[in-house]
Amino acid sequence: MLLIAFGGPPQFMDKVLIIEDAKAFNQMLVHAIEENTPFDCVSAYSLAEAEKILFNHAADFFCAVIDLNLPDGPDGEAVDLVIDHPNIAPIVFTGQVSASLREDFVHKRIADYVLKEGQHNISYIVSLIQRLYNNAAVKVLVVDDSLTARNQLKRMLVTQRFEVLLASSGAEALSVVEANPDIRIALLDCFMDEMDGFQLTSSLRKKYAKDELVIIGVSSQGGHAISARFIKSGANDFLLKPFQPEEFNCRLNQNAEFMEQFFALKQANEQKNELLGMAAHDIRAPLAIISNAADMLLKKDLKPDRQSSLLDMIGRSSKDMLALLDDLLDVSAIESGQVEIETEQVDLADLLGTQLEYYQIAAEKKSMGFMSDLPTTAQCAVDPKRIKQVIDNLLSNAIKYSPLSSEIVVTLKDQSDSWLISVKDQGPGIEKEDVSKLFGTFQKLNSKTTAGEKSSGLGLAICKRLVEAHKGDIGYRDNEAGGSCFYISLPK
Ligand code: ADP
Repeated sequence: MLLIAFGGPPQFMDKVLIIEDAKAFNQMLVHAIEENTPFDCVSAYSLAEAEKILFNHAADFFCAVIDLNLPDGPDGEAVDLVIDHPNIAPIVFTGQVSASLREDFVHKRIADYVLKEGQHNISYIVSLIQRLYNNAAVKVLVVDDSLTARNQLKRMLVTQRFEVLLASSGAEALSVVEANPDIRIALLDCFMDEMDGFQLTSSLRKKYAKDELVIIGVSSQGGHAISARFIKSGANDFLLKPFQPEEFNCRLNQNAEFMEQFFALKQANEQKNELLGMAAHDIRAPLAIISNAADMLLKKDLKPDRQSSLLDMIGRSSKDMLALLDDLLDVSAIESGQVEIETEQVDLADLLGTQLEYYQIAAEKKSMGFMSDLPTTAQCAVDPKRIKQVIDNLLSNAIKYSPLSSEIVVTLKDQSDSWLISVKDQGPGIEKEDVSKLFGTFQKLNSKTTAGEKSSGLGLAICKRLVEAHKGDIGYRDNEAGGSCFYISLPK
């Protein structure tokens, strides 16, 4: 099945400007936005401050939340200031909605207005900001034979940051879609010469399913009969003209959201199927060993030492399977957000020291040695069980993939606001083209274990998710002395 990508490359403008003189509101917005979206906020507490910020850094912002009444701009001057910057979507944050604001909303380039009342409106702003950001990656086609209607719809769509393409007839629309198969929403006028909106809907539906291209019929006549006819021809939705900008925005944004959610579901389903296939494949091998060994054990006249070697084989294969299942359960629990990080104040130097002692025996079996450089103490708020799991994985990988008699260097460094743990080995390292795959699920790469140890390709994927749950970072770089260097940074 064709999967349509959403989101596009990260954009340069990824900041939100908050223009609000009331400190409490300003900070509440900053907190809610930074907690719930990937965007950073910059606060301005007056019109003068907003002017200065925009004069120097307008290109950093894609959106602004604006208080209408500032001490040095009591009549919405800050809105006009932001409107002068076409790349910034203005959201008006106001104590009350006056008739003149509603007028402005129709005639000026305002993305939306939100009342200053209650937490639910702050949550609305947060989701609106995310929506406005995502819209920039959504292509919308407007098909109307009237130039005025096309331009009016374009203006409203651009205000919501959609990318807009225009066509003045059904035939032109089909060729625009042909040239831009990544168009996600089409707004079709009902009455056009030659090919009307219904015929165009049917033609588009032959090529694109409802979850690949959202079609919205638009008409100023005909009412319910037209709307039913559009839906029966394959449209997702219908808008009766004249519409209020609020109604138009809600419908468009809702449909864009529907597409994104559908895409995410499809992607998750494909990933699940892939994981299931790989898991079944990996579980099959030890199960086959157990089944064959059990068949052999049923044979008569087996010598006692053969019997015990078969039982040993069953034991080892069961353990491998259990370890794999534990990893799979971990991945599934983490993916579905069921893993809770229970932080407490921990001495990372102590924790690392203990794990190094624990892995000493495994290292000695391969004649390897640890070299460590740890501070006397390293206080950090982490979930000790989970961070131990991450360190175990890095240490056991270093032992698994390194040659006999090599050395593993473990360091813990103070980076002022974070701790940096690194594990360097003298193994084969990771090939350049494989580095981006390292932390994905079931990634068994070119480096092979050096003493027949088992590999599932799940360990680093689990580590990444656990470190990220601590708001930390895990990565790989080549070890200057040859081999691998895995590092974790954990915020203090
Ligand atoms: P596993 O080790 O169980 O296969 P991981 O997710 O921990 O799973 O590692 C993924 C892959 O990355 C491994 O299969 C291996 O090819 C490679 N790898 C991991 N750590 C190292 C290392 N220290 N040196 C070389 N290759 C490594």
